[in-house]
Amino acid sequence: MRYISTRGAAPELDFEDVLLTGLASDGGLYVPKTLPRFSHDELADMAGKPYSEVAFRVMKPFVGDSIDDATFRGLIEDSYATFKHDAVVPSVQLGPNHYLLELFHGPTLAFKDVALQLLGRLLDHFLTRRNEKGVIMGATSGDTGSAAIEGCRHSDHLDIFILHPYQRVSEVQRRQMTTVLSDNVFNVAIEGNFDDAQAIVKGSFADQQFLNGTRLIAVNSINWARIMAQIVYYVYAAVNLGAPHREVSFTVPSANFGNLYAGFTASQMGLPVRQFVIATNANDILHRTLASNDFSKKELLATLAPSMDIVVSSNFERLLFDAYDRDGDQVRALLEQFQQEPAVLAEAPLARLRAQFASASLSDDGIIEVIKDAFARTGELLDPHTATGFYAAEKARADQTTPMITLATAHPAKFEDAIVKAGFDGAALPPSMADLLEREEQYAVLPAELSAVQAYVAEHRH
Ligand SMILES: *Cc1c(COP(=O)(O)O)cnc(C)c1O
Repeated sequence: MRYISTRGAAPELDFEDVLLTGLASDGGLYVPKTLPRFSHDELADMAGKPYSEVAFRVMKPFVGDSIDDATFRGLIEDSYATFKHDAVVPSVQLGPNHYLLELFHGPTLAFKDVALQLLGRLLDHFLTRRNEKGVIMGATSGDTGSAAIEGCRHSDHLDIFILHPYQRVSEVQRRQMTTVLSDNVFNVAIEGNFDDAQAIVKGSFADQQFLNGTRLIAVNSINWARIMAQIVYYVYAAVNLGAPHREVSFTVPSANFGNLYAGFTASQMGLPVRQFVIATNANDILHRTLASNDFSKKELLATLAPSMDIVVSSNFERLLFDAYDRDGDQVRALLEQFQQEPAVLAEAPLARLRAQFASASLSDDGIIEVIKDAFARTGELLDPHTATGFYAAEKARADQTTPMITLATAHPAKFEDAIVKAGFDGAALPPSMADLLEREEQYAVLPAELSAVQAYVAEHRH
């Protein structure tokens, strides 16, 4: 499998290089040059199979011959053995023809574990084979950091440095990172906000001299391997609800759009998907773009669903690439315009998107109401991100006859603030994490300065 950039001017890469590279050199994101397509029979045959078997069949075409089958199966088995549910990602029914796909049974209680458990093992595999070391740097507003740390903590070939804004992540989120006391894990609290932390990471990728030639690796959702690992649960959930004999629809709480882009890729690979519903919080760029062709930045709002607090949706570029018939020049022109001023999509690509996508956005007050209402009607306590999905699924679904699958992106115990505001006492952490608030923590506090952070990384990496 070969990979190309969405802006059409970077070299083609194979899977191994795409895994180890961040952004393409032209500023674009890598996508497969051609997608594999599953036949009706191949999809039907996946129904009822274990998650790891479906994962192998769905991902094999993307890794090609870069890993032998037995090794790849082993990495998949190990990744999903860390999930605390035998079905890995179980579904529960919310109402007539409405299902909840629980993606939060992994080590850090959010869907990001699905991709990052595998990504950590893939990186370790290739670096071991090359006899190289790698340094991961990432900025987090909460969920990505802990999932990345859990995915990489056992690797002898990786050091991982995660920057979070000092005193601006929830206690559960912070402790899920800072109580991991492995030798290769470094938590850095930055005296600033998330944007300051992200700017330091970007600055480090732009000038890597402080690493003396050691490879710097990105684990955010611009990394194609994260998208690849997320395609699996769309296929798994759909075939277990009757696909390919009937269509299904999905609703996805969205921010950087990596999750939903994985679903879209599944549909391009032959999964019969009637409709995708994009759910956003008050940071609604995706909803505005789709509903009113307003592709523009708005000021960041801090909401009750903080993992969806974004200004720009980086993976939306991958969808635009397809909507614009994979014309990298047009995508580059559109995104250059978007950086300077409000942009609009051309008529044909917008119409193409509207044929398969709908959207809805939910305010903080709405999130509180939906958590109450969903509990009263279904007995399920939804986390605030999933609540936006529950709302959007009911508001924007095209029909009542196609099964709607709403993705539950986090466990409610991770976002107690919203749960308490909705009138509940709280939500209990799962047994494996019951002592989280008593565990020892370790982290450094550094000023929001590139040079201070780079010096810290240079001093502590192995
Ligand atoms: C990261 C995250 C999202 C947003 O996912 P994207 O792939 O960025 O669209 C939604 N909910 C939760 C709980 C998250 O952690």
